[in-house]
Amino acid sequence: MNKNHLQDIKNLTLPELTALLIDQGKEKFRAKQIIKWIYARGVTSFDEMTDLSKVLREDLKQRFVISDWSPEVVETSSDGTRKYLYRLSDGETVESVRIPMEAGKDTLCISTQVGCAMQCQFCLTGTFGLTRHLEASEIVNQVCASLKDGPLQNIVLMGMGEPLHNLDNVIKALEILYLAEGCAFGPRRVTLSTSGLVPQMYELAQRVKVGLAVSLNATTDELRDQLMPINQKYPLVELMKACREIPLEPRKRITFEYILIGGVNDSRTDAKRLVKLLHGLRAKVNLIPYNEHPGSAFKSPSRRTVEEFQSYLLDRDIVAIKRASKGQDISAACGQLKGKLEKRDE
Ligand code: SAH
Ligand code: SF4
Repeated sequence: MNKNHLQDIKNLTLPELTALLIDQGKEKFRAKQIIKWIYARGVTSFDEMTDLSKVLREDLKQRFVISDWSPEVVETSSDGTRKYLYRLSDGETVESVRIPMEAGKDTLCISTQVGCAMQCQFCLTGTFGLTRHLEASEIVNQVCASLKDGPLQNIVLMGMGEPLHNLDNVIKALEILYLAEGCAFGPRRVTLSTSGLVPQMYELAQRVKVGLAVSLNATTDELRDQLMPINQKYPLVELMKACREIPLEPRKRITFEYILIGGVNDSRTDAKRLVKLLHGLRAKVNLIPYNEHPGSAFKSPSRRTVEEFQSYLLDRDIVAIKRASKGQDISAACGQLKGKLEKRDE
């Protein structure tokens, strides 16, 4: 049978699947049964769904496939970080990274696009441009596949791509990951990182619950315009206004990622401006020493610079965490994912 015309059931949210079933005269509660089979029990064929009638299983087979991913390559770093590379149906590739935080508590960093259109000057992913958006199922499958390799405490949308440039598919993927009968990730265990697409930040907050992280990386428009061209469209005042206006969940903070680039944004004056920008916000700052990669002129700061920058923030009661960049030896650290390079010709 030619399966090409069949839809991937993993692209459907619960309301979508329910509506489809009702349309066909089936009972509404079947949707949750199906979700449970796919995401909680990990079955890959409708025949295994033994609490569904044979007729329903046949109907489902006529319409849908259940996609099931296994990594083409898994690399393990000396610090335990694991990078998974997946081949997509059109030959493109996408990467996810499993980062061990504490014992038994891994965070999975997933991608939302093949490449990225935002052109941040310091980012390897950005240098290749955007190849395409990932579908909801392709975002969800990174999680499903990784779960086969061990439990996950948290998910961060911080891999390849700008999640808010692929807003509809990202929201769908979150809704699927949150399903109580399925993967059951609570929104408090998921964080989305954006380079600062302001209108989409508001829309996201209205449509779905998720922790928000903003890649700030500079404290003046002059520098941010250069490092992150998106700033020319949505300058710092607008970005910070959105950060203040978007409601936060109780006891939650908004995360600001700040890459420290040697001699570029790591001075005491930068730290001072950062404190000012964050004034009055329930914020947490992740300081990420720049990861050098071939072809980039930027340099990592010295350890001392990082410590001084962090102390300056801590002394002013700003929660500032130094993010040791894990997985550097396997190019799995922030901004090092490049998926697209590994196209078929290897
Ligand atoms: N596009 C989204 C999410 C993916 S990028 C965003 O920009 O937020 C994830 C993080 O990696 C961002 O905070 C980005 O600033 C950071 N990053 C990119 N290149 C890096 C590098 N070479 N070293 C350290 N961090 C980097
Ligand atoms: Fe895209 Fe984020 Fe890299 Fe900027 S830092 S190019 S937004 S992936």
